[in-house]
Formats: sequence, structure tokens, C-alpha cells
Amino acid sequence: MSDALTLKAMLRPKFRGALLGVAVGDALGFPFEGSSHSFMAALGPDALHAFEAHRSGYFPPGQFSDDTQLTLATVESFLQEKRFSGKSLAESFLPLWRENRIIGRSPGCSEAIERLIDRTADWRTSGCEEGRAGNGAAKRMVPLGLWNYDEPERLVEEATLAAEITHRDRRAVAGAVAVAASVAYSLTRRDLILGEWIDAVAGATAPISPALARHFRDLPRFLSMGEKEAVAAISKLGYDDPATAPTTLVTPFVVPSVMTAFFWFLRHPDDWRETVGGCLRSGGDVDTIASIGGGISGAFNGIEAIPEALRETVVDRDRLIDLADRLHTLKEAVRSRRGA
Ligand SMILES: [Mg+2]
Repeated sequence: MSDALTLKAMLRPKFRGALLGVAVGDALGFPFEGSSHSFMAALGPDALHAFEAHRSGYFPPGQFSDDTQLTLATVESFLQEKRFSGKSLAESFLPLWRENRIIGRSPGCSEAIERLIDRTADWRTSGCEEGRAGNGAAKRMVPLGLWNYDEPERLVEEATLAAEITHRDRRAVAGAVAVAASVAYSLTRRDLILGEWIDAVAGATAPISPALARHFRDLPRFLSMGEKEAVAAISKLGYDDPATAPTTLVTPFVVPSVMTAFFWFLRHPDDWRETVGGCLRSGGDVDTIASIGGGISGAFNGIEAIPEALRETVVDRDRLIDLADRLHTLKEAVRSRRGA
């Protein structure tokens, strides 16, 4: 088989791996959101054996949170419009808030969506202002990378518009574009070449946030360190005063969140468990970090790389597979109409 044919055959399991990877990573982390490095490390390999129920008692084991809910709403918007539409995407988020179904909501996303519900803003103006640089845009970007895997310029344009619905801060937008670019890279490669990955991800983000792109270019230095030392150093990235930055967990600030997920993916590109296990052990916003790491690794390694016991028991498993397959089918139909 030629490389092109082989890639074509790999795409369906990779689309599935990306969406299941997001959901399973999120559902593993959700019960432990906010826990420290040492708390998470003490769980050991158990953290990946089976889902824990959330301590609130309201959710079953395998329940994912807002990260996956917003990711799936994004897929549904693509399926409905058969293209990217910022307006449709923003509207796809509203029922989650109106019907009070959003799980583990973050303040940035909630404020932006409430402006849309109140009609005090439209989708182009609803995003939180510069200075509000949470990971709320980055955590729902996997579908933007899947949809635009063969069109890098459109990827940047559409991921930017999608991010700005909730976050207009340049770092938050660049972090979101970086996740989409990393998914696109992962989907189309069998082998990871670090320099190539960095060029793709830092190249896509440098015009938006040169500072964040510099952190991505610095990943080889973190990869040469011991794991604990690297995660502690990454936890402090992006803070104006590193002396006051947290070192015991990774906050929902976009810079350390995205860098931590990337670090664990690049540390173990061929091993979904190691990537997601590392994301979980990093502590802090572990549902988001494990969901980003799980989605990227799933796009690279395909659905089979996700432990069967987890991918078979995650909540809404059939819907996740169905949405991944329908997005893949639609994307390939659009490509073949274009003669790609
Ligand atoms: Mg969450």
C-alpha cells in the first residue's frame, strides 16, 4: 500500500482515538481536579486502571466534564453546518448553560456564554478580555485540528475564531491554536519527529503569541530534564513573578496547562497510558490536562491505544464513536468534492 492509502485507512481509528482520548482523559481526571502533584502521584498506576466516581456523589464513574461536553458540541456544529461557523459554534454551547447541564464549568467560559445568553454580546465580542488567560478555549480544540488536518492556514483562522468566543487573550488563543495544530500533526503522521512537531506548533502560534511559541520551542530543554523537575518548572511558566507561581500543581492558566499536556505527549508519543498517566500525576487542572494529552495521543496512536477497560466504560461511549465516525465521513466527503 502507498503511504497515502495507508494514511487514509488510519484516519478513522485516529478520529475515534482523538474524541475517545479527550473523553477518557477528562473522565479520569474529573474526580481529582485540583489535587496536588503528590496526591496524584500517590494514586500510582491505579489512576489508570478504572474510573473513580466524583466525590460529590452526583456522577457515575466514567463521567466526563465540560472539556468533553464543549468538544462534542463543537463536533455537532461541524456536522450540522458541514463547515466551520463561529455563530453556529457559539449557539451549540448555549443549551449546556441554559439547561444547567454543563459539568465542572470554568469562570471564563461561563462569563462569555452568559453574555451570549443575555444578548449583551454576539459571538465575535463575547470572549473574556486580554489578561483572562485560562485554558477554556484550549480544552475544546481537538475537533478544529481534526477538521483542518490538511489545511494549516485555515486551521489557524478557524481555531482563532472558535477560541475567541470565550477568550480573546492572545495567550489563550495561541494555546488553543497550538492544541489544534498538534492534533492535525498527530493525525497525519506515523512517526513523531520532534523538530517537525515544534515547527508546526510554534509556527502556527508565533504570530498570535510569540511568548507562547518560545515556550513550545523550549520543550526539548524540558524533555531533557527529570520528570519531577520538568513538571515543577513548567508549572511556573508564564507567570510574571515565578517566585509566587504554584509549584505543587498545574493551574488552569493556559501556559502551564498546554505545556504540561505537550510535555507528556512528547515524552511518550507512542504510549497513550504514559501520556495520560503523566498528565494526571502533574496535579491541578487534571481533567483538562489529561483530556488535551489524551486527545492528542489518541489522534496519534488511534483508538486501540486507549485501554479497553476505559474506552468501553466511559459515559456516552457509543455517541463518542458515532460523532467521531460522522465527522471523519463528512471531512472525507468534503475533501473528495474538492478533489483532494
Ligand atoms: Mg473540566
